[in-house]
Amino acid sequence: MPTVAWLEQLPACVVVIIAGVLRYANAAALHLMEAQAPDDFVGRPVVDFIHPLDLHRVLARIRRAEQAAGANPPTEFRAYSCRGRTLMLAMSSTHLQDSGAGSVLASFLDMTERAAMETRLRETEENFQRMMNTMQDVFYRTDAQGITRYVCPAVKNVLGYTAEEIIGLPAAAFYPDPAEREALIAAIRKHGFVRDFPGRMRRKDGTVIDISISTQALRDEQGQYAGVEGIWRDITERKNMERELERLATRDSLTGKLNRRSILERLEQALDQRRDRREQPSLFVLLLDLDHFKRINDTHGHAVGDQALCQFVETVERQRRGDDHFGRLGGEEFLLILEGVDLAEARQAAERVRLAVERTNIELVEGLTTQLTVSIGIAQMQPGDRRPSDLLERADRALYKAKDLGRNQVVLEVPAAN
Ligand code: GH3
Ligand code: MG
Ligand code: MG
Repeated sequence: MPTVAWLEQLPACVVVIIAGVLRYANAAALHLMEAQAPDDFVGRPVVDFIHPLDLHRVLARIRRAEQAAGANPPTEFRAYSCRGRTLMLAMSSTHLQDSGAGSVLASFLDMTERAAMETRLRETEENFQRMMNTMQDVFYRTDAQGITRYVCPAVKNVLGYTAEEIIGLPAAAFYPDPAEREALIAAIRKHGFVRDFPGRMRRKDGTVIDISISTQALRDEQGQYAGVEGIWRDITERKNMERELERLATRDSLTGKLNRRSILERLEQALDQRRDRREQPSLFVLLLDLDHFKRINDTHGHAVGDQALCQFVETVERQRRGDDHFGRLGGEEFLLILEGVDLAEARQAAERVRLAVERTNIELVEGLTTQLTVSIGIAQMQPGDRRPSDLLERADRALYKAKDLGRNQVVLEVPAAN
């Protein structure tokens, strides 16, 4: 059949089909169809090269082009090359005049790469959605204004809101304290990211949960801050456990006050802060020991003794200034640490506690009350004191004196001049 020479140079694929048989293919078409020689392709029926599932549609297009003038819009279909490789082609066709009835001029583009890319994209998207749907943590993204633009469905389990209820709202709206979100954003802007940043969020039911956030800043093409993207995790259970462990490790189980280790730690810290100062340190310890406490146990039993101890602790609590540390050293012996007071104030504080204890009715069993008294030894930190025991030994001597003087007394140990 007559052809135009420049068609051979055209980089687009062109074929002529007459009565369903390929009658011409330019060089680009032969190349794409992987024909070793023109005969591999030309002279064969088009159906040989079309995927069975797309055959019907493609033949209908060709038939239309055979009969009428005017271009057929492009159609995509799967085809086989001469070597059997599957290709994705987009074909445009039109009636070819002057070449006899049923002649069709068709051009096609190779869409194989694009189709593969689309498949990969779809798979990536499906993987992403699957991951988001099964994730326990919450993945989210906000814009530069802090508006939530994406949040994964897991948020429903954690916050009680659906993703749709959250998207479009400022992320700060879900923080019990907006300053906490500002601190997060400041850290992200400074470092570009945060790992395990602590925070809190408010659930739909009003309860506040502890969260841990790992997030990074997003930048637009100009490098400008465009928001944040990352995950946060509900760590309320872990935090509660940590708080409980902390309580168990630092609190006395009977009275709930600081235990021996913790109160001595506080004392050590207070000593450390004043260690190298020249002036007389304003740090006092009050060592408290209940008087004749054994009698309560002996008369009413140990359980009643325990309750009496708790009531004594409440009495002291009511007299304690907020920043004084109070703890149980052991048995019915307690320690109060007073900071930033002078000698007279320390003595007054001790006297106030002593008097309050003396005046409090301790309920032993229903309808039966008794009074307790307490002896208190006071010691003041001296410039040479290094360890808690330096101070406690003096307080213990004072306490011993208070017992010796008949109990229910406050005694201050004055250090021996050296
Ligand atoms: P003193 O005035 O000399 O201090 O007399 P005391 O009876 O209080 O004697 P001491 O301080 O030597 O003894 C403390 C007693 O307190 C011994 C024990 O029976 C009792 N005790 C110590 N710890 C507990 C406790 O946890 N629960 C109860 N119920 N009693 C305790
Ligand atoms: Mg005692
Ligand atoms: Mg004792």
